[in-house]
Formats: sequence, structure tokens, C-alpha cells
Amino acid sequence: MSTRVTFDVVIVGGGPAGASLALHLVRDRGILPERICVIDAAQFPRDKPCAGAVSSLGVETLAAVGVSIDVPAIAMRGLRVLHEGGHGATRAPLGVVIRRDAFDTHLLHSARNDGVVVREGEGLVALSSDGGGYRVTTSRGVLFARHLVACDGAASRTRKLLGLREPARKGHLYVGDTEAMASDAGPREQLCDFDLDVCSRGLEGYYWDFPTPDPRGTSGTLPRHTSRGIYHANITPSSRVKAELFACLRERGIRGDDMRLKPFPTRPFVAETVLEHEGILFVGEAAGIDRTTGEGIAQSIVMGKIAASALARGLRMGRAEAGCYADAVRSSRVGRHLLQSAWLAERVYGAPGLRYRRFLRDSAAARRAGAAWYAGERLSKITKAKLALALGVEGMRVALV
Ligand SMILES: Cc1cc2nc3c(=O)[nH]c(=O)nc-3n(C[C@H](O)[C@H](O)[C@H](O)COP(=O)(O)OP(=O)(O)OC[C@H]3O[C@@H](n4cnc5c(N)ncnc54)[C@H](O)[C@@H]3O)c2cc1C
Repeated sequence: MSTRVTFDVVIVGGGPAGASLALHLVRDRGILPERICVIDAAQFPRDKPCAGAVSSLGVETLAAVGVSIDVPAIAMRGLRVLHEGGHGATRAPLGVVIRRDAFDTHLLHSARNDGVVVREGEGLVALSSDGGGYRVTTSRGVLFARHLVACDGAASRTRKLLGLREPARKGHLYVGDTEAMASDAGPREQLCDFDLDVCSRGLEGYYWDFPTPDPRGTSGTLPRHTSRGIYHANITPSSRVKAELFACLRERGIRGDDMRLKPFPTRPFVAETVLEHEGILFVGEAAGIDRTTGEGIAQSIVMGKIAASALARGLRMGRAEAGCYADAVRSSRVGRHLLQSAWLAERVYGAPGLRYRRFLRDSAAARRAGAAWYAGERLSKITKAKLALALGVEGMRVALV
């Protein structure tokens, strides 16, 4: 007879959300690492196409549990907003750009080095309730969990097995990278370029040029490559995303056909987002990410921290407290940021958003506020008042959230 293997917490998915959760459970909440199991369908380093921008919020949250960015990284020193032939630039520390294969492996293997049971190449196949916990069937066998957490990303198998409906249409991204070019004015100075002109052509999002580390893994202060891609928030469906990306690349003298480009979905965090279902927590993109930027690494890392706190409480009390994690996320800074972002995406990217886009291009104060918001900082009362004054009634909402 085979032995029944029971863990306090089984985490499905070892990306930034799952690894952060495991690290916080051990380092921040004192849960025994051997009581935690992370399963991931992939073998790390896994291919994770991504622009790799991790905002300061994510970097600082990891640093607080003793995880430094020990992989090649380029500091993001600010941003440029490109619109209608002009641009506005702001210098402010935003975080770092990393390569996901190296970064995600570093995080997951840090948890493994702490003693967490990490099972790579083992995917979730089925799940059911079992007494007070869960029976988890994987591609390699069966394990049991007192608590189960879904960190399995945009295509979350857990959500599918539970029959959860999408709360909103998924966003679309295409990403690729090339060697840095002489025309990469922003990335050359380690600034991230956000080109909002695609909005004037009916897309809800932006084209980006970000400085990125050399894929061969060398670090250094000067970016040698540029990550390029397009994000469409997909509030209104469009079949023109790839065509628009090719048009943006052409403007920069790049043939899209020469790049390895693949489309990827992103699940947005919106008001209706499900964070808990039948006692199972959803963390990172399995719940949802930033709808304005299409980004979610830092947000996933912070949600991992919040989930660790809720689970530790549940383990101490011997049961999960319904709603505790969902309430904690929604009332946290990251939760409010995500909701604000869902609200902003609908305003900034649609036709009425033209004045927001011009405001971002023309106003240094607006870009400074945008940069601080991106980096996860709290906006000061004075900044909020200035935004409210400049944008009128709509701005009041931006300032208040
Ligand atoms: C093209 C593109 C560019 C992006 N650029 C940025 C950016 O610059 N900055 C940013 O912050 N965000 C960016 N994002 C979003 C970012 O990738 C996500 O926010 C982030 O990966 C979410 O982390 P996660 O841990 O929740 O999910 P993931 O990183 O997706 O991790 C989920 C893990 O679950 C595993 N898994 C899946 N199914 C199963 C299963 N059945 N069983 C077990 N394991 C399973 C997967 O193998 C994976 O390792 C980008 C996304 C795309 C698509």
C-alpha cells in the first residue's frame, strides 16, 4: 500500500507568485519548508516570453525576505511617453529588467534551497475535496493538501478544473527582442519607452521598447538588447494587434518577419476577479494582473506575500478563514493599484483618453506620478491634488483611488 503524502500547503505553479508564496511562508511566517510543496508542469529554467520589467515594489518585497536579484539585470532609470510625434521623458528609479528564465529559476530554486519540496515537470491534472483538504492528482501521482493555492498563471488549470468563468476578456501581448539599435534613444539611456500612438489607431494599449539584458546572460550597466512588443488590453476585441506591432517595428527599421514573435494572453485583475473559491486561493496571474500595463511580476510577488500571511493564520487556527485572503488583497496597496489600473485602462486607451495621453506626454508632474505609481509608491496628497486639478472631475477619481 502506498503512503499518503500530505502537505500543509500545495502550490500549483512555481512562477513568481508560487515562488514568492513559498519563500514568504518559510522566511516571513515560519512554516516548516518540508510541509510546503510546489508543483510545476515545466522544468526550470522554463521559457517564459516576457518583457521582464520588475517594478521596485517587487524588488523590495523580495529584498525584505532576503532574496536579491542575483541574475543579469538592467536598472530601469525612467520612462518616455511617445505620442503624436513628440515625447516626454522622466527619470526615476522604476525597478529592473531581467530575463524570465534566469529570474524565475533563481526564485524557485531559492525556495528549494530553503527546504521547500519543489517538484518540476509535474502538472496538476485533477483535484477534489478530501476531508478538510484536497486530493491533488498530478501527472506523476497523488498528493494531499490541507491548503491548495493556484499560482498557475494566465492559463490556470485550477480555474478550469473548478469551472470558473473569466471575469473579463483577456489582454493580448506579442513580445520579442533584437540587439540594441542606434535609434533606441530611450533604452540606450535605460529608459522604458511607451508608445501610445497605437491608441489613435484603435488599439487599447501601447508598443514598448525596453532595455533588456543580453540573452547570453551577461550583466552590465549598458543594455545590449531591446525588448519590443505590443500590449492590447482587449476591452474591445481587435484583430489588428500583430499588424500594429509590425507597423511600429517598421517605423523603427525592423522587419517583424525577422523576429520570433508569439501572441500571449494576460488575465486582467478587475472588480469581479475571484481570489478564493471553495477555500482555494488564487495568487498572481491565476487571479489577475495589471490591466493598464499588462504587467504582473511585482504584483504576483506581493500577492504571494499576502497569501502567505492568510495561510499562516489558517494553519495556526486549523482551518481556512473564508474571505480573509480576498479581503486582504483588495484592501492592500497592490489590490487598490490593480483595481485602479482596471479603471484607468478603460479611460486612457479609449478615444476619450486622448487628453490623458497628451497629459502624460506633456506634463512632467503627470509622468512623475505615473512613474511613482508604476513603481508601487504611494502618491502624496500634493501629487493627488495636482492630478485632480489638472484632470478635473475624472482626475478626482484618479487621485482618490
Ligand atoms: C508577452 C508578455 C510580456 C510580459 N511582460 C511583463 C513585464 O515586462 N513585466 C511584468 O511585470 N509582467 C509582464 N508580463 C506578465 C507576467 O508574465 C505575469 O504577470 C507573471 O508571469 C505572473 O506570474 P505568475 O507566477 O502568476 O504566473 P507564471 O509566471 O505564468 O507562472 C505560472 C506557472 O504555473 C505553471 N503551470 C501552469 N499550468 C500548470 C499545471 N497544470 N500544473 C502545474 N504547474 C502549472 C507554469 O509552468 C508556470 O511556471 C508579461 C506577459 C506576457 C505574456
